[in-house]
Amino acid sequence: MNESEIKDLKKKLLSENKNVYAYLNEGSEAEMESFAKDYSKFIDAAKTEREAVVFAVKEAEKAGFTEYVFGQKVKKGGKYYYNNRGKSVILFVIGSDNLEKGIRISAAHIDSPRIDLKQHPLYEEGEMGFFKTHYYGGIKKYQWTAIPLALHGRVIKGDGSYVDIVIGEDENDPVFYINDLLPHLAKDQVSKSLGEGIPGEKLNILIGSKPLSEGKDIKLALMKLINEKYGIVEDDFVSAELTAVPAFKARDVGFDRSLIAAYGHDDRVCAYPALRAVLESDAPQNTVMVILADKEEVGSGGSTGMQSEIFCDIIRDLSNAMDANESAVRAASICLSADVNAAFDPNFADVYESKNSSFINHGVVMTKFTGSRGKSGTSDADAEFVGYVRNLFNKEGVIWQTGELGKVDQGGGGTVAVYIANKNITVVDLGVPVISMHAPYEVISKADLYMTYKAFKAFANN
Ligand code: MN
Ligand code: MN
Repeated sequence: MNESEIKDLKKKLLSENKNVYAYLNEGSEAEMESFAKDYSKFIDAAKTEREAVVFAVKEAEKAGFTEYVFGQKVKKGGKYYYNNRGKSVILFVIGSDNLEKGIRISAAHIDSPRIDLKQHPLYEEGEMGFFKTHYYGGIKKYQWTAIPLALHGRVIKGDGSYVDIVIGEDENDPVFYINDLLPHLAKDQVSKSLGEGIPGEKLNILIGSKPLSEGKDIKLALMKLINEKYGIVEDDFVSAELTAVPAFKARDVGFDRSLIAAYGHDDRVCAYPALRAVLESDAPQNTVMVILADKEEVGSGGSTGMQSEIFCDIIRDLSNAMDANESAVRAASICLSADVNAAFDPNFADVYESKNSSFINHGVVMTKFTGSRGKSGTSDADAEFVGYVRNLFNKEGVIWQTGELGKVDQGGGGTVAVYIANKNITVVDLGVPVISMHAPYEVISKADLYMTYKAFKAFANN
């Protein structure tokens, strides 16, 4: 065989690694940049699940969606959203096809790892005021010390009214801080493992130091300030959801600005493109739905998590309203479980299997199965659905890749996919590869974000 025959045979028979940049032109690159800007605004505005719901509902109403009430009539082309307790939201657009043809569902989570306050958080010690905390989700605790933190959340007061708190985000706000030990005195600490160096009970947030009078009563002085600003008393912390998140804003990374660093890419970097695709759906043939769920980082339980009945309640209610059989609707529905994967990192190459890892700038990553060890805990998408998605993306010019979460025996993880699959809905994981996942400041690529948006658009429109 001559050289050109070998080249042709390679092209015909062997897989090819695609870098998104080889497929962009001036127009698509501009669209990618503009999508990245929109996303950065979203992620700065939505650092908690509650804020993500507020954002989604506002955008939905702008796009003509109305609040859905159980038992209401729906019409083809109608756009609705269901706000579940302000912490998760389901948006859908009714298609022109019979509902029994199935719903095109995408599901992402809008909670991220963070530092929650305990129910009795406030105390003073060593002439400083602190909040006790209980971390939420899988974090490397040492990463959350010695960085600027902002407080976000809601407090329900004794009279039943509430106050929403966001402090630490504005340039002129104070920030909060978790102390770490100076290296000079860290002989014992640095000889511990990374996991043990900062134990959970040391994640106490520094919130002030000024005594009320005569060098005394720092706690009382702080409570007085908090009361003046928010009208709450110490007892009100019991009925509060206050959380500390990194006070960082999203920033472009690199001389070429090809990457974005932000807090909470996992999983808002998938939630945003999935949301946009449904917001932009107008009179679709298939009914399309996006679920933005809470509690994924702690197992998807609870009334606002993906294991809640709410999702099936809505499908049942829609089926009744549209004269369709609910079981048939679920059996015919297909879903992209929108979650991030770990991008291959050459600095930690030994935990990845590079032939089956996702790479930065290689596009949206399809993850056939998650779980740990022998695929424990996964739903494992079937070959037929992977085949459908693959052909759809190729037809629609979506640059995509596959990826496993690291080496077989190295660890593992899960997504909401299994809870959707358990409802007899065909599902596969799809999302953005992330560098430093679950760190206070994570990194993704604009090209992968853009391809994820294109993927959800293609899925909703076909
Ligand atoms: Mn996730
Ligand atoms: Mn996660």
